[in-house]
Amino acid sequence: MRDISSGPAFRAERPLVSVSSDLGAAVAADFGDITRQGLYQIRAGDELSPPFFIRKDAWRRFLPVVVSYHRAQRCGVATPNVHGVCHLDDARRRDTGAHVDATGGWHDAGDLRKWMDATMMNAFGLLAIARHLGAGWDLAGSGLAPLEEELRWGNSYFLKMQDTDGRVWADVAGGVNGDNSDNHWTDNITGTPDDRYLNPAKRPLIQAMFTAMESMYAQQFKAADRDYSARCLDAARRCWNVNPHEGDTEELGWWTLAAVELHRATSESAMRRAAEEIATRLAGLQQTGSGSDRAVTGFWSTSAKSTEPYKNAVHSALPAFAILEAARAFPDSGSAKSWREAARRYIEAYVVPMCNRSAYGLMPFGIYHGSPTPEHYRPLSGNLTYRFFMPVRKQFWWQGLNAHLASHAVLLASAAAEFNQRAWRELAYRQLEWTFGANPFGATLASGIGERNPYPHSRYVGVIPGGIMNGICGNAADEPILDTGYAGTWRTNEYWSPHVGYFEWAQAILESTT
Ligand SMILES: [Zn+2]
Repeated sequence: MRDISSGPAFRAERPLVSVSSDLGAAVAADFGDITRQGLYQIRAGDELSPPFFIRKDAWRRFLPVVVSYHRAQRCGVATPNVHGVCHLDDARRRDTGAHVDATGGWHDAGDLRKWMDATMMNAFGLLAIARHLGAGWDLAGSGLAPLEEELRWGNSYFLKMQDTDGRVWADVAGGVNGDNSDNHWTDNITGTPDDRYLNPAKRPLIQAMFTAMESMYAQQFKAADRDYSARCLDAARRCWNVNPHEGDTEELGWWTLAAVELHRATSESAMRRAAEEIATRLAGLQQTGSGSDRAVTGFWSTSAKSTEPYKNAVHSALPAFAILEAARAFPDSGSAKSWREAARRYIEAYVVPMCNRSAYGLMPFGIYHGSPTPEHYRPLSGNLTYRFFMPVRKQFWWQGLNAHLASHAVLLASAAAEFNQRAWRELAYRQLEWTFGANPFGATLASGIGERNPYPHSRYVGVIPGGIMNGICGNAADEPILDTGYAGTWRTNEYWSPHVGYFEWAQAILESTT
């Protein structure tokens, strides 16, 4: 390893040693003792590494690039250098055909659709940056104004998507039959045949996410704009009041967070009681059994009805994070200790041993009982198996897991500070490093950052600096695959809001803790 700047010569050598890794044979050298700031390169055999910095702001310096992604994805307005004014005619209801003003918001991915569940993750990312880093988030000194302007832009659409009964609709332009029929530019004139459709379905997950998000908006804007804050809080309350706070592990995780954030916004004891009740139900879905046939434990069941281990390409770490947030919000609760133990158990008995399965330290997608589909499931212990990547012969939808990894970075970063566990903070970085180049392809899956960026699946506006792609998938053998040519593979190369949102959330916590 040598310093490639023009400063004093610096050179260090470390031995390459074999590392146990289920992702193929690996050797590694540990330069972790070197903290001297500089721009370095490592030579191993005939190969040169990409140049890399050791400096305090190595991650922080490109946070504004990622944040700029949201503005480029704005819908309903011209975004300079990206696209002209669009979709002023959003949208007509799928059921009645009636026009509803659903303009604004953000295009979700490498296309033009506006899913609520996915695009709300943009807001969570920005809200987390504002909450944890405040006006100093951008080292260039831009302050809170651009963050708050972007947050307001997205929220104008989210608020329009709340029906008069308090419940929240699912999407605009999602495709009438699960297809791409609404994925097009329009003439911006309401009432013409190219108007896109609003999906009036009211899905449980979206209700919980919306309540949590509007509660966070209310807190963020409380000092600067009381009226706007009150409007956001009212939206959160109305959604909370008309929905049952139930569901599978995924929904209960979000309802726990929603109740915690509503309490933070209101300080009402009823919200605290609700949060305690939901968090306790969620904790009850954690599997705690152990034994010689179980190499891991502490993961969640999918629901009260199914003991299938909980797996989720987006919100995989959210249940454990929500439990920890409940413990942080109510430290004097009689259950706080058990919630903390639940989060600790998830990390120590499940996340850490699973991350130890490869040289990269990434969190595998999840564990299974046996081999449920005709493809390779890696043996774990007893009847338990696992895959690093989503199954490819189970269903049409499988894709890269950068949101799953970044959501674990959120949990690990938060828990590292809460439990004073330095190793968990390091493990949080492993999850992000996989996305940003420490992977078998040496490729960074964020445009304009790092090296060997694949061309994104972004079929309308091309490259967006800071956009984070779905990420590396596995094949039937669970070996990593990535489109490094130009096949336009959406599974690996498409931008998606949840990756950006969870990355920003993780960064906000990592940069505000030590
Ligand atoms: Zn648009």
